[in-house]
Amino acid sequence: MPAKTNSIPRTNMPCQPAQVRRNNFDEVALGYTQEMAFNEASRCLQCKKPLCVTGCPVEVPIRDFIAQINQRDLEAAYQVIKTTNSLPAVCGRVCPQEHQCEGRCILGKKGEPVAIGRLERFVADTHILTSQSQLTAKKEPPLPLSAKKVACLGSGPSSLTCAGVCAQAGLKVDVFEALHEAGGVLIYGIPAFRLPKSVVKTEIEGLKAAGVTFNLNNVGGRTIEIDELIQAYDAVFIGVGAGLPLFLGIPGENLVGVFSANEYLTRINLGQAYDFPKHDTPAYLGRQVTVFGAGNVAMDAARTALRMGAESVQVVYRRTKAEMPARREEVEHAEEEGVKFTLLSAPLHFNGDANQKLCSVTLQKMELGEPDPSGRRRPIPIPGSEYDLETDLAIVALGTRSNPILLEATPNLRLNARGYIDVNEATGETSIPMVFAGGDIVTGAATVILAMGAGRRAGQEIVRRIGRT
Ligand SMILES: Cc1cc2nc3c(=O)[nH]c(=O)nc-3n(C[C@H](O)[C@H](O)[C@H](O)COP(=O)(O)OP(=O)(O)OC[C@H]3O[C@@H](n4cnc5c(N)ncnc54)[C@H](O)[C@@H]3O)c2cc1C
Ligand code: SF4
Repeated sequence: MPAKTNSIPRTNMPCQPAQVRRNNFDEVALGYTQEMAFNEASRCLQCKKPLCVTGCPVEVPIRDFIAQINQRDLEAAYQVIKTTNSLPAVCGRVCPQEHQCEGRCILGKKGEPVAIGRLERFVADTHILTSQSQLTAKKEPPLPLSAKKVACLGSGPSSLTCAGVCAQAGLKVDVFEALHEAGGVLIYGIPAFRLPKSVVKTEIEGLKAAGVTFNLNNVGGRTIEIDELIQAYDAVFIGVGAGLPLFLGIPGENLVGVFSANEYLTRINLGQAYDFPKHDTPAYLGRQVTVFGAGNVAMDAARTALRMGAESVQVVYRRTKAEMPARREEVEHAEEEGVKFTLLSAPLHFNGDANQKLCSVTLQKMELGEPDPSGRRRPIPIPGSEYDLETDLAIVALGTRSNPILLEATPNLRLNARGYIDVNEATGETSIPMVFAGGDIVTGAATVILAMGAGRRAGQEIVRRIGRT
């Protein structure tokens, strides 16, 4: 059987054609059909020691869920995934599988790894289609509510996961979110063409059905203090992310037309500016757009700008494609859609017109030297190579750091040297007893699956301490 399985090529993901999708916000990857999923699952060797699992931050029993697909029992496959992953429809779409499970799959040594992420998405989507919601459809109904209460601050993947673990154990959970919609980056950051909002909303509806309440427009450190939550709740989880954007720190960055990717994407995703006039959120429309950075956020911003009608979109990066931190698939999709890459170039200053509106950026060419502490080759400026690039909308996607609002208002919360919340790694507990934290506010900007893993660990610890035995 192994030889036969190895000879089956990896099943491609069907996608909207590039020329069509660059004009809409519908999902790019269309998902496997049942036939495609069964074909792909049949490639798995069912290894005795499945290396794929060692690459998954939450150790999804990958071999076992694929075995259930091969048995044609998709609900059983779903329940296997849910033993460790509470948001599989999200992870199947946005996890960097090539660096995680698929990066370790034995088939990848000599050929193409099993498309684990695509199979996970297929199983989760099938479950959503065949049930009202993921949590309510569980065979075991949640336990009756106990008198113990948990507050979760923020509503991104870390808090949603912590809330789910606690609610399933019968604890009463109240989520407090600063924005007017729950979901964190899954709602305001990652665009609908990569992660449809209906997928996130289904997860949130599932939590509501399990008794979790969502209190929106509540800013921890302003409208509500950690001390108040400690008085009113038996445990508190902080999952407020790291949403404060970093800037280039070069002249002209305050010109009209220079945005952080965070603000640009929030206006378009959360404010649904793409759906004008149904949604009247102002969005700055550029003709010649430049995006600075080369991670997933930069790709999302560039592809969003194309869909908002830009004539040209250039991603400007000071290294080469090989060093780009974005997922390979996202870079390929961006290129297919028409995004151009200006590599080995770094911005020196933005230039404005008489009305302080951005009209160009001055770039300097770079060459790569020896590797720096990050292991990537260091970019070195080439003297005298400066040149101007016309642009009327610049989007800065250099990363984010912790937002000080909550941290400054909670001085007894110990921080680490990088300014993030210091926690006990095994439990997620902070320097304040029974106050836990996880996700980007602990690690710095990272990934959905790592945030979920932290939320799960903290949720389990909370249940262990105050849940029923
Ligand atoms: C554009 C973009 C694309 C990305 N793409 C990917 C990807 O493809 N794959 C991947 O794995 N990861 C991706 N990431 C990273 C990933 O989304 C994050 O690592 C993850 O969402 C972190 O989860 P979290 O729960 O820590 O916080 P977040 O998702 O940031 O959620 C935090 C929530 O807390 C709220 N909040 C903040 N301050 C307060 C306060 N004081 N009081 C109350 N609420 C507050 C915020 O409004 C937000 O809703 C991307 C990030 C961005 C920005
Ligand atoms: S390593 Fe690859 S082939 Fe082996 S069990 Fe995991 S997915 Fe299947």
